[in-house]
Amino acid sequence: MSEQRPGLVMCVCTGKCPGFSQMDIWDFINRARVELPVEFGVIHPQLCEQDGDRFLADFLEAKRPLVVAACAPNMQYKMFRDAFAEKGMDVKRDMTPLDIRDMSTDAAIEKVATALREMGVKEDV
Ligand code: SF4
Repeated sequence: MSEQRPGLVMCVCTGKCPGFSQMDIWDFINRARVELPVEFGVIHPQLCEQDGDRFLADFLEAKRPLVVAACAPNMQYKMFRDAFAEKGMDVKRDMTPLDIRDMSTDAAIEKVATALREMGVKEDV
């Protein structure tokens, strides 16, 4: 992982998936962007759809590593591998996928915080 802080992208599976019903998604993303060492926090409604591909094609121009808080990591690696590869990035190196489904807001924040610590992201970059 590089010295730069990662961006945090949350995907909420259209907003209708019951997997996200236990948390307040706006509280989650607001707390994450304020309390955690991420460069920014954004929510996308359905990152694995075609417009999600188009979003990533633009977004990854910055070549910034991303934490993606969404669904199963194995699925994320498969779904986003090509988008990262097209920008000369490696999805296994440059993306940290986290499954935050069926979690409370506090639990999801703690999961992201733990991942950032494990990635060695500094608080004061
Ligand atoms: S990336 Fe995962 S969380 Fe997002 S819409 Fe697709 S399946 Fe749902």
